[in-house]
Amino acid sequence: DPRLQAISEAIRVVPHFPKPGIMFQDITTLLLDHKAFKDTVDIFIDRYRDMSISVVAGVEARGFMFGPSIALAIGAKFVPLRKPKKLPGEVISEDYELEYGTDRLEMHVGAVQSGERAVVVDDLVATGGTLSAAIKLLGAEVVECACVIGVPEMIKGYCRLNGKPLYILVEPR
Ligand code: 5GP
Repeated sequence: DPRLQAISEAIRVVPHFPKPGIMFQDITTLLLDHKAFKDTVDIFIDRYRDMSISVVAGVEARGFMFGPSIALAIGAKFVPLRKPKKLPGEVISEDYELEYGTDRLEMHVGAVQSGERAVVVDDLVATGGTLSAAIKLLGAEVVECACVIGVPEMIKGYCRLNGKPLYILVEPR
């Protein structure tokens, strides 16, 4: 796809953020580039349009920047998967491992019914721990996980994605 190179080039790499040794993939520069941003969302829309998907779930915070546009275009609802203590209603939660310690995603009870077909959206997949927790939390039929950025090893293995397919647009720069 000829659009992918410009998408990749619109992502800024910030060395040593948020700590030494990390090459942070910054998608805010992609959001500033109307063509690259629109192409990114359009590729996902074209992929999921005719797959009978009724739920697009976005992972806080950068999944919120891509997910709603996809949901609106394909006629699905958008479900935010949030960090602890942000949602006001009754929640269900899923803990997951980080490099140091654990984190948690929460979702409002009743946001999704068990038979619904869902796509989980985030900006970047690294270990897959976050997406894995999202899949468990949703309890729906997760058709695929969609990320803008991912390492090729993750696609081959989808080791920690509970066997669900992973779709990524570009590799880390
Ligand atoms: P994983 O759980 O797959 O190891 O990490 C993925 C999560 O960490 C995603 O929610 C993603 O937003 C965040 N993340 C980790 N590294 C980066 C990075 O370099 N750039 C961005 N934008 N997000 C990152």
